Amino acid sequence: MHLNINDVSVVYPSSDGRPPVSALSKIELEIGNNEFVVALGASGCGKSTLLNLIAGFLAPTSGRLMLDGVPVCGPGADRAVVFQKHALLPWLNVLDNVAFGLQIQGVSTAGRHETANRFIGLLGLDGFQKSPVYKLSGGMQQRVGIARALTCDPKILLMDEPLGALDALTREKAQELILNIWNDTQKSVFFITHSVEEALFMGTKLIVMSPRPGRITHTFDLPFSRQFLAGTAARAVKASPEFIRLREQVLKIIFADEEAVAK
Ligand code: ADP
Ligand code: MG
Repeated sequence: MHLNINDVSVVYPSSDGRPPVSALSKIELEIGNNEFVVALGASGCGKSTLLNLIAGFLAPTSGRLMLDGVPVCGPGADRAVVFQKHALLPWLNVLDNVAFGLQIQGVSTAGRHETANRFIGLLGLDGFQKSPVYKLSGGMQQRVGIARALTCDPKILLMDEPLGALDALTREKAQELILNIWNDTQKSVFFITHSVEEALFMGTKLIVMSPRPGRITHTFDLPFSRQFLAGTAARAVKASPEFIRLREQVLKIIFADEEAVAK
């Protein structure tokens, strides 16, 4: 899988007497096979707009997006989205929620349950197949959402602040789970977060974005998720001098942007 974003800009037209918004300007980004690209930046810098472009929910005002050499024009099963607030179907149980995408594709009951059960197991939800999703904790609901996204075997997983609503401990566990699944499935990931620590820990590549207009100002290659997957404890990775140095460097960039916006 290779996603190529070339000179992409998005302008939201003026509405209700408000001026047009230059949400993204001249974005250049490549996402390769099994890459984990994290987008970080002040609120309003265009992170969700970028994700919506990749998902095909939105078309660029100018520039182009190519997925494996084919222009992105509309949503498709090769891209799956996980939102901050899970978007599960409350009247269905865990199994039917996870199998939902396959049902839409017309896969037989036995076939879709087999695939769904595999991802339910991978996400640590075994035994909860028959539970209605509204009875689950926020962390478990989010895992159901990730399992559902994976069942359709997308080429790339698009995650918009998927862990933002979780408490600190659940969030750290979910980070580790997502990295393990990423490693097991070898998917490509585009992941949005507000947390500098989460961004550094999860990504193989970090893009730092800046608002007005939204653009990519810095790019970093990151070693930390691979260190975790090679056996170093997550807290040890996050406490290493290399991690702390980069964390402070990125925080400085983000704070400077937030101050500029506040002025
Ligand atoms: P982020 O996810 O980084 O917070 P967004 O991509 O949601 O940023 O938004 C980028 C900018 O575009 C913001 O200024 C936001 O107010 C504006 N915006 C987002 N969606 C729309 C829309 N549908 N219409 C007009 N302006 C929008
Ligand atoms: Mg957003």
